[in-house]
Amino acid sequence: MVNANSSSVKSDFKNASQDLLYWYDKMARRLPWRLSPDNRKKGELPDPYHVWLSEIMLQQTTVPHATPYFLKFLDLWPTVQDLAAAENEDVMREWAGLGYYARARNLHKCAKVLAGLDKFPNTIEELLKLPGVGPYTSAAVGSIAFDLPVAPVDGNIERVISRLMTISGDGSAAGWAEDKKEITARVQELVPARSGDFAQAMMDLGATVCTPKTPNCMICPWVESCLAKKEGNPEDYPAKPKRKPQPIRKGLAFLAICDGQVLLQRRPDSGLLGGMLMPLSSDWAEGREYVVLEEAPIGADWKHVGQARHVFTHFALHWDVYVANLEQKPDLEGEWIKLEYAMEAGIPTVGKKALKLV
Ligand code: SF4
Repeated sequence: MVNANSSSVKSDFKNASQDLLYWYDKMARRLPWRLSPDNRKKGELPDPYHVWLSEIMLQQTTVPHATPYFLKFLDLWPTVQDLAAAENEDVMREWAGLGYYARARNLHKCAKVLAGLDKFPNTIEELLKLPGVGPYTSAAVGSIAFDLPVAPVDGNIERVISRLMTISGDGSAAGWAEDKKEITARVQELVPARSGDFAQAMMDLGATVCTPKTPNCMICPWVESCLAKKEGNPEDYPAKPKRKPQPIRKGLAFLAICDGQVLLQRRPDSGLLGGMLMPLSSDWAEGREYVVLEEAPIGADWKHVGQARHVFTHFALHWDVYVANLEQKPDLEGEWIKLEYAMEAGIPTVGKKALKLV
């Protein structure tokens, strides 16, 4: 639980913000959506569209993975008005591979709202009204794009501050939930005038120095003030509650192939992988056995070619993949896509895993 007390934060860590900014001025990562500290010090601010787009993409993924998607989106849709005017299917196709497809739907919905406004919202209250924008994204966009005096707190920043101030969970879900609130409150006390650079510096520190398993304290700007380092056990922070093992759902994928084309069906707009093209499938459920003939969309000579495995947020999928080469296209709903183009058709990663088995 908490070792430091709240009223002493400012005095205990009074140099922490400046130490971090001094480090960031020299070590800031160059990222395509980011302005250098030198430019920001001259009073420039980044394009809020770039900041918002990057923050939505970076949720649950890494900078190297998200960067090509960010560049592709800007190439296709240089302004938020362009993105708002795009076809939803095109947005979903370009998003494929970033996961969490509800986020892509919200991104497009949000672009349409933004395109109808006179200016990009520049207060936390206004940002929070946007579709898909919660406390973290509003604080990230608010600080980075507008230098609002707030600090975003995600898992990486929680870890770094947990170590700096030795705020840790007691191993229970309730204890960690309380301490996360404590961390969020304490970070706000550290926010300096250069709040955008401070937010990005914390992100860089968490990504490059204060990493989960092997924090590199010797090159850390907070090595003098960090309480976990003084204790000698930074890796022990934070003590999060253990996750329960994920349930496994099983199902069958059916790749109907005819004339070098595979049949894909678009999923309903709402729900998991909503609006995405996917191979034909049985339902996915825990603990039931499947009989191929009963689940198959048509009678054919279905051959088992392997199992695609994928981990979603709340469950893991074991998807047995069957292929049938058909002489004629059956009367089934869907889109026939040439096999060599199927991987580029905007299919989510789990669908690609099944297709790779062909
Ligand atoms: S001194 Fe070590 S544990 Fe503390 S913030 Fe820096 S890298 Fe993390």
